[in-house]
Amino acid sequence: MERTTLWDITGVDPDKARAVAAMRRQVATDPDRFWLDQAKRIAWDTFPTVACNTSFDGDVSIRWYEDGTLNASVSCLDRHLATRGDQTALIWQGDDAAISRKLTFRELHSEVCRFANVLCGLGVRRGDRVAIHLPMVTEGFVAMLACARIGAVHVVLFGGFSPEGIGERLIDSGAVAVVTCDTARRGAKRVPHKETIDAALSHAGTIGAVRNVIVVRVTGDDVPMKEGRDHDYTALVAQASPECVPEIMRAEDPLFLLYTSGSTGKPKAIVHTTGGYMVWATYTVDVTFPSEPDTTHWCTADVAWITGHTFVVYGPLSNGTTTLIYEGLPGWPQAGRWWDIIDRYNVSSFFTAPTAIRSLMRDGDDLPRRYSLASLRRLASAGEPISADAWLWFYEEIGQKRCPVIDMWWQTETAGPMLSAIAGAQPLKPGWATTPIPGLFASITNEKGEVVTPEGEAEGCLCFDSSWPGQARTIWGDHKRFRETYFTFSPGRYFSGDGARRDEYGNLMITGRMDDVINVSGHRIGTAEIEDAVATDHSIAEAAAVGISHDLKGQGIVVFVVARSEKVAPPVGDLARIISERVGRYAAPERVYLVNELPKTRSGKIVRRLLRKIASGETDSLGDLSSLADSSVVPALIAQVTAQS
Ligand code: ATP
Ligand code: MG
Repeated sequence: MERTTLWDITGVDPDKARAVAAMRRQVATDPDRFWLDQAKRIAWDTFPTVACNTSFDGDVSIRWYEDGTLNASVSCLDRHLATRGDQTALIWQGDDAAISRKLTFRELHSEVCRFANVLCGLGVRRGDRVAIHLPMVTEGFVAMLACARIGAVHVVLFGGFSPEGIGERLIDSGAVAVVTCDTARRGAKRVPHKETIDAALSHAGTIGAVRNVIVVRVTGDDVPMKEGRDHDYTALVAQASPECVPEIMRAEDPLFLLYTSGSTGKPKAIVHTTGGYMVWATYTVDVTFPSEPDTTHWCTADVAWITGHTFVVYGPLSNGTTTLIYEGLPGWPQAGRWWDIIDRYNVSSFFTAPTAIRSLMRDGDDLPRRYSLASLRRLASAGEPISADAWLWFYEEIGQKRCPVIDMWWQTETAGPMLSAIAGAQPLKPGWATTPIPGLFASITNEKGEVVTPEGEAEGCLCFDSSWPGQARTIWGDHKRFRETYFTFSPGRYFSGDGARRDEYGNLMITGRMDDVINVSGHRIGTAEIEDAVATDHSIAEAAAVGISHDLKGQGIVVFVVARSEKVAPPVGDLARIISERVGRYAAPERVYLVNELPKTRSGKIVRRLLRKIASGETDSLGDLSSLADSSVVPALIAQVTAQS
């Protein structure tokens, strides 16, 4: 089945295509040279003499630039002071449209130094973990970079986590301090950050290693402060010096821990280190979103996710690019907020997730047409498979058929995009994440982890054949789980856990998670393939496919659909026809349930393992629900499914 042909929409520039081909050749022939060249993109105290020293065998050891020394905050701040100290580094747009703030590189540098001194004053030392639990405010940036400045390891925790979720992560990471705020704005509601931290610290029974809680005043709401433990951010920063000598770190010292989204089970803390991560963040942002002097880059991801770390904070700042953050929700207090921000700040590169694109599509096409959006030059999507349909909408309505839409595939473990088109150097293909970025080599293996078809069309499991600088080094405190999860499936390769299909040109499309693959009478079908077909029916806003056991076929397909507003889902027969036509007759669903909402992680990913349980009637063993954005959707789903069964 070929859904779409290659799209040479924005034109391929032969010079650019040649330059990218040359990069690919260089990595193939002299990877060390290539990666040492990339290392020149950042500031080092001692430039490394070796690039990669990695083994995926045995105990698995991943090391990059290991004799190099550096401080990550210097690449993001100090080195820009002489050339662009007065350029805006960070634009913050408040939830209230009338409130915003701009910080130049010089101002951000001073704030970071002040807060770094505050942390030192509170006894935070090199190697200590510091949890950051804030909404999208400038202090989150400052806190991350201040940790980096003194060699502390940041652990950014999503604002919406429950006290239990936070408590577990504080204990697991051994954090010694927490940076939080009074309360945060979320539409008409307030998120009780400080209260959550207080509850987390008492929930843990003991406060673990946490000795200090620093409270940023975001809304000014009154919150209890515990004498000796809790401190006011503004008061501390006001007394601190704006100069702080950066701690010189070894390349392999950890820069941060970050928990995965928890789509497949219990979240794990992924460890990223300083030198390799910084090179990778700087390289991947530049190669996918090349910066021009007037670039304003807006990635809507929360900083609590890997896309936020790399494409909101470290990558843009290291490249000297202005980066934008927005405190509020896309549709609050009225729909169209995002488009207004794009026009107001002349955003040139805009990066968001399929879940957001699908919900914006639901607002209708008239809305974005009321805005100019003329500043946009490049669009990107990451986090989940984007259906060809949503890709086209994004391209036509937001990019106005002028901006390339880049589908990037990444994971917390990969720290940056691994599959991504280089706009201008290759044709795009709606719904396809296209090719590995220069420097990477992907393979498709069968279910046993063997490469049967090294080239041309293939379908199977997505693996990578060699290391990259931003590769996760381990799972915090559980190297065995790290080795077993990623390196035993196909010895000598990194196993992503996702399925992919390759076309005759070498483009890759993510077919879904291997755990979710559905096997109908011997046909293995990725969830994305079915969902992509369903998305072509315009009465449907979102869909999720799962497999349930079936006496004759092994597994049968069940599809959950959410209708676009004021429309109803088409009859099962219509969907079965669409899926049969686009995927194959064997993929016709057994059942289609019309539901109000799908269960999602806090990062907006559909949790299919729950839908599988619900469709199979196994509602008494739903497992870990802590990663869900809203666990109240679960009883509602069960009720809707029961009523329609
Ligand atoms: P956990 O590992 O805890 O189950 P998670 O895998 O959802 O959670 P993340 O690291 O945030 O946590 O997400 C990475 C996953 O997101 C990828 O493995 C893939 O399944 C999905 N993903 C990311 N980008 C894309 C994309 N462009 N196309 C398809 N899938 C994507
Ligand atoms: Mg994962």
